Amino acid sequence: MTEIFSFDDEELATHVQTGLTLEEKEELEDSPNLLSTLNFSTNPKKRSDSVISVGSINNRLGTSYEVGIQQPYFAVSSKESEPIPAAKKLKPKVSDFEPLKVLGRGAYGKVILVRETRSGKLYAQKQLKKASMVVEAKNYERTVNERTILERVNHPNIVKLFYAFQDFDKVYLILEYLEGGELFTHLAEQNILSERIASFYVAEIILALRHLHLNVGVVYRDLKPENCMLNRKGYLVLTDFGLSKVSTRDGKSNTLTGTPQYMAPEILQEQPYDYAVDWWSLGAVCYDLLTGSPPFTGSGKKQVLNKIVATKTLKTPHYVSQDARDILVKLLRKSPLKRLNCDENFETIKNHRFFRHLDWEALIRQDDIAQPPPIIPVVTNPELAENFDADFTSMPISPPGSPYDAPVFSRREESSFIPITKTTDKTSVESVYFKNFSYTTEGYLE
Ligand code: AMP
Repeated sequence: MTEIFSFDDEELATHVQTGLTLEEKEELEDSPNLLSTLNFSTNPKKRSDSVISVGSINNRLGTSYEVGIQQPYFAVSSKESEPIPAAKKLKPKVSDFEPLKVLGRGAYGKVILVRETRSGKLYAQKQLKKASMVVEAKNYERTVNERTILERVNHPNIVKLFYAFQDFDKVYLILEYLEGGELFTHLAEQNILSERIASFYVAEIILALRHLHLNVGVVYRDLKPENCMLNRKGYLVLTDFGLSKVSTRDGKSNTLTGTPQYMAPEILQEQPYDYAVDWWSLGAVCYDLLTGSPPFTGSGKKQVLNKIVATKTLKTPHYVSQDARDILVKLLRKSPLKRLNCDENFETIKNHRFFRHLDWEALIRQDDIAQPPPIIPVVTNPELAENFDADFTSMPISPPGSPYDAPVFSRREESSFIPITKTTDKTSVESVYFKNFSYTTEGYLE
């Protein structure tokens, strides 16, 4: 059985920033006189004895730190015999979560259903190997991005992040478990949706996107059917924030990313873009819900773009009503300036005839008597993950703590990673520590 190597995040963070142990730092903070006598500064720059640059991939992850790396941090396996202070016990670590089933696999790692042993609560655990992040900076960026954005989000239609932590081998995000699975698994049986049902999900996506744009300052960028999941009650919840982007000061980005068939033309053309790209994607998803496929299809970005450019008037099948067509045409306008903007025109949207069956206030309150969700997922036992693909749920769960290719780490000299070393009886293995990654919701402490 592979040993699970764990370390105390806060301890390590303190050590790399100040050169002091957590206990030493707390002692100093409790004694202001001593602090001033020693003229101790928490500014890591003043205490470092050597320098590495921490925290900058594409200049997106903030400032550089200087940390002492002369003496590598030797983390030790937690000793059960020693009494642990109460506050420390509450910090989650990988061994607090028992893996039950594989739920799915994203572009960058597996998602596993886990049970927190202390409370018995179920969560979805997204995990990514550190080795793959060191080789491929993009993987690192995606995961940190997701963790950072989800920490700032608080909306019932957006997946909730409970904890983020790391061990020697991997980083972990502990997310709300969306028992209903992907919306499109349910739709596959029906192929197309009635306008009444489609308007419910489109309205829920609007609420989520407005929260992201107006309260968090984030362009979602990756709205597509696979990222729309259902919770136990049947409400839609957006997941996967790896590609989302905090809007720049001028509100424009120009990175090419996302899924071509739902992507706005300005992204495909690699032009600067802003929040309006999400309203295009909403139009494409709405079209998909109503007709069974997105409006512009093709095997790659170029093909999709060619179709968008060649289309003078949006074609809709004969069974799409005038009301539905009207909203599709307005969302799928090529010019972002002319496109329907649900951030600015919310009242107009709410009163649009496409949403005439909807009680928006009840939807916002998630009042399932006044506005019941159209599909209520069947969940006889949440641990069985019945709404997920059996190809995944039948997969064996691999044991944590797999060994990896040590030389990988020495290839990166300038990085946002702090080297850490694990020593066993005979050998020592290198890994990295990601600064400022850990996150715990207050709920954990209740
Ligand atoms: P992602 O990496 O976010 O694309 O997730 C990969 C797959 O894992 C998804 O297609 C879902 O089937 C599943 N998944 C992701 N997040 C959750 C969640 N919070 N609850 C349940 N399943 C999830």
